[in-house]
Amino acid sequence: MNSRLSIDPWRFHHPLLPVPAAEEVVDAPETVTLLLPHGAECTVAAGSRVKTGEPLCRMPGHGSFASLSGTVRRIMPWDGGPRGQFVAVIIARKAADENHRLFDPVEEATALSSQQLRERCAQAGFHFPDDQGPLLFTALDEDVDRVANRWCVEKEFDRVVSGLKILRHLCGNRRIVVALPASMPEERKKACSPFGEVVAVPARYPDAAVSLIIRRHPALKSSGSVTVIDSKRLLALAASLSTGSAVTTMHVSLRIGRKGQVRLFQTPVGMRIADLLSRCNVAVSDGMQLILGGEMTGSAADSAAQPLTPDSDALLVLPPHEVVLSENSPCVNCGRCHRVCPVNLRVDLIGKYVEFSRNGEAVRLGIERCIDCGLCTAACIVRRPLAHLLAFGKGALPRQRSGGGAA
Ligand code: SF4
Ligand code: SF4
Repeated sequence: MNSRLSIDPWRFHHPLLPVPAAEEVVDAPETVTLLLPHGAECTVAAGSRVKTGEPLCRMPGHGSFASLSGTVRRIMPWDGGPRGQFVAVIIARKAADENHRLFDPVEEATALSSQQLRERCAQAGFHFPDDQGPLLFTALDEDVDRVANRWCVEKEFDRVVSGLKILRHLCGNRRIVVALPASMPEERKKACSPFGEVVAVPARYPDAAVSLIIRRHPALKSSGSVTVIDSKRLLALAASLSTGSAVTTMHVSLRIGRKGQVRLFQTPVGMRIADLLSRCNVAVSDGMQLILGGEMTGSAADSAAQPLTPDSDALLVLPPHEVVLSENSPCVNCGRCHRVCPVNLRVDLIGKYVEFSRNGEAVRLGIERCIDCGLCTAACIVRRPLAHLLAFGKGALPRQRSGGGAA
């Protein structure tokens, strides 16, 4: 069945970036830095030799496999700023690349029982909850700069369909919702429909589409938990099953300047920003701003030494003349932030209330309905850090409540 998600009011005006014609494959750098979750129990130590695809911790997840064959040079705590705290494993490459095999390749995934399939998925870093909650597959991106999901579904459509078949087998009778761009040709939507309920999302769907879909789809919003898998992860899952090895590369979309063309790279997970930029002949200079994760939902990297991680798969490089210092920018009441907000918030007013710690007023105007999409920040002509202000304001709410002050 093919249905259209109704968004009312439809207020989004930020154009999505076009998907590049091809991906560019980047050679392995001399070192990579893999970021493991804080508190993860490492299975390697400094000086260990590792092969590409070897798990670096117990219960490995996305991005926690060695992405180079080489020697573990150092293991240390890593402060990821707004991304949280991590354990960093730095691996230095050695000459020959060797692959670590996790399990025998699976020729026909549907020949395995769903339990056998689930075990292999977990070995390759995909953990599907055991409950019967619905699963949302999305071929959308979470930020204008993040184009990998749309790229996968446009360029690798047949493999996406094979992946959906695996997902259907894995999930048994569990409900699957397949969110596709509305602009996708009808025959492609039809090809996905045997595996779940196809939801066509308008081409200019806002950032953070996943949270909006979950909030608005009747079956998803009433469910306690929704498992989300996107197209690039689905392709990685299918590749892991067919090779028996973990996927250790990732897509990164790169834009130099706000008006720059987007390029899509395939890089080893954990490559430093500086290494990617040097491959593109971009010299890092003072005053340049590096935004990891895209213009809307990303945040500034401390330095070009930061590694690329699968969950921040976009890089926007702003030359000094495009960097606007937001703290010097008072609101000029243009109303753009309100017009673009997909949940129709008076973002300008809420931002000001948060700035002056008037959280009760912010709650009255619905701050809790903010979905952190970042559209308001991208739309603001004076570049006020609106999404950050609202995130900060929401973060302060429980403390306010416990003190009896808010609302
Ligand atoms: S206020 Fe929240 S939901 Fe509205 S545009 Fe800004 S970040 Fe998105
Ligand atoms: S877009 Fe920026 S300048 Fe315009 S009303 Fe919103 S906060 Fe104020």
